[in-house]
Amino acid sequence: MTLPKAVAFAHWMIAQNVRPGDTVIDATCGNGGDTAFLAEAVSPSGHVHAFDIQGEAIQATYARLKKESLDSYVTLHHCSHERAASVLTKMESTGVRAAVFNLGYLPGSDKQIVTSASSTTAAVLSYLHTFSPGVPVIVVVYHGHPGGKSERTAIEHLAAELLEQEVRVLRYSLEFQEKAPPYVLTFEKIGEDTPHLSE
Ligand code: SAM
Repeated sequence: MTLPKAVAFAHWMIAQNVRPGDTVIDATCGNGGDTAFLAEAVSPSGHVHAFDIQGEAIQATYARLKKESLDSYVTLHHCSHERAASVLTKMESTGVRAAVFNLGYLPGSDKQIVTSASSTTAAVLSYLHTFSPGVPVIVVVYHGHPGGKSERTAIEHLAAELLEQEVRVLRYSLEFQEKAPPYVLTFEKIGEDTPHLSE
């Protein structure tokens, strides 16, 4: 057995939950690695909605998908991930079978543009509100860059504040590593109720 790194573990979780024909969200498409993985998983009859605020990322993802003949399974949205509920139809939103976030900056580009605590937590919460019980919201947390620690604190704060009767949270983390490696937080709504935060 080889314990997988964070991204490989996130992909394993996707593979357990996503089937051909499903609708899924890539909340941070970047260079398209997760988008391509999701597109393979839902093809030939499903669809990926992929988000990024950087035009450069949207173009890089499109080029990758085109090269791998996966572009017809993906809609690219050049906007922030918390807008998913307004750009997807109600039927698409409620039918989503998984969402994945890969936090931090676009590899190989301007490290000033990173995911932020406020939009990440707002998006995770809105996905939990909209999705059906049992749909994983998978967040790969990078915390080694400037701003990464405050984003990690915010997402962990959200995880701690959600009521355990309404949302389960899994942490997958390789421990005792020299550098701070990314880790995974997966949120899963477990009842029909809209998740609440504790007082
Ligand atoms: N999943 C990507 C891949 O496989 O290549 C890597 C994603 S990269 C670590 C993080 C991405 O999040 C960057 O491309 C960045 O532009 C994007 N991003 C930052 N804030 C965002 C937001 N509010 N909504 C959507 N994307 C955002």
